[in-house]
Amino acid sequence: DRVNLADEPSGSLPRFRESEWDDNIGYFIKKKLRVWCRLPKGQWELGQIQSTSGENATVLLLDGTVVKVSTGELLPANPDILEGVDDLIQLSYLNEPSVLHNLQYRYSHDMIYSKAGPVLIAINPFKDVQCYGSDFVTAYREKLFDNPHVYAIADNAYNEMMRDGVNQSIIISGESGAGKTETAKFAMQYLAALGGGSGGVENEILLTNYILEAFGNAKTSRNDNSSRFGKLIEIHFNAKGKICGAQIQTYRLNLKMASEYNYLNQSDCLAIDDVDDARKFQLLVDALDTVRICKEDQKQAFEMLAAVLWLGNISFQVIDNEYHVDVVADEAVTSAARLMGCSTQDLMLALSTHRIQAGKDSVAKKLTLQQATGTRDALAKFIYSNLFDWLVEEINKLLAMGKLRTGRSISILDIYGFESFKKNSFEQLCINYANERLQQHFNRHLFKLEQEEYELDGIDWTKVDFEDNQECLDLFEKKPIGLLSLLDEESNFPKATDLTFANKLKQHLNGNSCFKEERGGAFSVCHYAGEVLYDTNGFLEKNRDPLHSDIIKLLASCSFRLSQLFASNMLNRFQKQASSFQQMGVFDAPKQSVGTKFKGQLFKLMKQLESSTPHFIRCIKPNNKQLPGMYEEDLVLEQLRCCGVLEVVRISRSGYPTRVTHQEFARRYGFLLSEDNACQDPLSISVAVLQQFDVLPDMYQVGYTKLYFRTGQIAALEDTRKQVL
Ligand code: ADP
Ligand code: MG
Repeated sequence: DRVNLADEPSGSLPRFRESEWDDNIGYFIKKKLRVWCRLPKGQWELGQIQSTSGENATVLLLDGTVVKVSTGELLPANPDILEGVDDLIQLSYLNEPSVLHNLQYRYSHDMIYSKAGPVLIAINPFKDVQCYGSDFVTAYREKLFDNPHVYAIADNAYNEMMRDGVNQSIIISGESGAGKTETAKFAMQYLAALGGGSGGVENEILLTNYILEAFGNAKTSRNDNSSRFGKLIEIHFNAKGKICGAQIQTYRLNLKMASEYNYLNQSDCLAIDDVDDARKFQLLVDALDTVRICKEDQKQAFEMLAAVLWLGNISFQVIDNEYHVDVVADEAVTSAARLMGCSTQDLMLALSTHRIQAGKDSVAKKLTLQQATGTRDALAKFIYSNLFDWLVEEINKLLAMGKLRTGRSISILDIYGFESFKKNSFEQLCINYANERLQQHFNRHLFKLEQEEYELDGIDWTKVDFEDNQECLDLFEKKPIGLLSLLDEESNFPKATDLTFANKLKQHLNGNSCFKEERGGAFSVCHYAGEVLYDTNGFLEKNRDPLHSDIIKLLASCSFRLSQLFASNMLNRFQKQASSFQQMGVFDAPKQSVGTKFKGQLFKLMKQLESSTPHFIRCIKPNNKQLPGMYEEDLVLEQLRCCGVLEVVRISRSGYPTRVTHQEFARRYGFLLSEDNACQDPLSISVAVLQQFDVLPDMYQVGYTKLYFRTGQIAALEDTRKQVL
């Protein structure tokens, strides 16, 4: 019988879609099969249909209660035998409650990993689950285990790299606290175990995590150890598959750094040792020693860090009724200046005035309170991010040693997932734009996998439509009238406000179907993961790089090596940018906006990813309290939608969703043929059935091993079958 899955292995069975459900209810009633029933509060419960009348059904729930609901609130549930399957696409019914239930079932049995087609889903356990360490590494290496695991993904990547000689990437995404960084570390651990043995580089790679986390992480409300940067670590292997070096790139996607830092516990910043727990601090110093950062540089690095903290404590006093300010000459400003290596006077001047060229002279203009605060934060942010970049560079110098360019590498990307809050601003716009790009990468990869399956089975895949999110990317990237260009244009226009920007968007972008105008200074974007409402408040300011040249000059004049280094890096970058503009014939190089810089970084990243075979891991946070054993359905569902897992399952079956082997099909429908077919082979029987029942040629394809059907085709055949039976 059509849903009688219990007798047969699930892999090769026809799959029925939700759209086929309507003509199916009678069948579910007759057979007393399980259904998902949505109760008035929105939660899904398992039950059995007792009877129906018109649009309503009476359902017996598992706990014995009987409810009356509209049939629209029912969805087919999977048979028991499919409880907790490894891969969601093994489910006969792929509706949301089924998917959620399957993941929850696994999670409650400490199976935190599942597959959704080619994607690994990892649900944060917030406790130690006993599935890591050398025994498990060996077990996955020797294929003793085949259940989903981050080790299995890393193993695949390694094997494919060795087999095809092609670079690999492991792309890990998810929201804050979902477990991306931990997962990345497990993947690195596995690769280090596999590729270790050539001089201990693998240990150095693992140690670098300490440094990056110590400087790049912060405690936030959502994660005690939240990475404030995106990270791509590229591990290089020699021809024998041994690690021979590594490289780290970081993406400071987080634009709020400085302001967050200013609000850091302000009293506790006298000595660095007090900021960090002493043991961790020792580990950090050991790690810095290992990556051969000399003691003098370490000392300066900590001084710069302390300077940042002091900068956060600098305050201003308003001196006139136009809100112009002076710096309050207190301990904060003297300490910051001393730690940076400049005079207190110079620092105070740079933070409260702005030099403007007036003919041959330059005049110092007083800053307003808002401008001065902005400058202070920008300086703190500048030092901090440069300090971080410098550390990454030093680490890279070490890890690159002995690196032989063999063209084989595995890159692990740990990056924020799609975000959608009640209030979304410029930061979310950037993050979601990056995720939109990653999603396109993902879609194209899935498409390729599908194509390979079709081609292997001799199917003409040109007939398969595949959805793409190009329209949404165009909304962001089109020149001169995409979101980012329009933002730059308005940012360069002195009289523009966030509201004029919002109006400009409405005026120019309405033609794009992914754009929706909203009231006031807001607009919505239809992202692949859902619609997000953005508030343009603060967009222009955030997009402008607030660091002015006086500050760079101040740093350049400092007596310490790191201050000077940071200043000259900045000047170099600016000159490079200016000269590339000059090559294009543009002499007055505009300062690069935050948005444009972001896009540049993203393109670089995509180029690197596109030249590798991707493996995807989606991390899910099951609750917001960082507690073990707590699975909040709504929260999980939201993330499954956001990271496109539900889409994956759908997309990976979007061309010809129903696939049945010839044997299966012949066994099931062969008896409907008017002529005796006992001695025919399954393929001939199948084709005969299709012809006898006038299934349109557009609606199916015949492969070497399977038949491929468009949605709904099987339901029609099933009807006929039911009538005959
Ligand atoms: P993200 O990088 O996505 O923001 P993290 O990787 O920092 O999240 O994880 C947040 C916290 O969740 C970790 O500090 C750890 O306590 C816990 N965690 C994440 N993954 C695991 C795991 N596989 N096993 C045990 N705990 C985990
Ligand atoms: Mg992280």
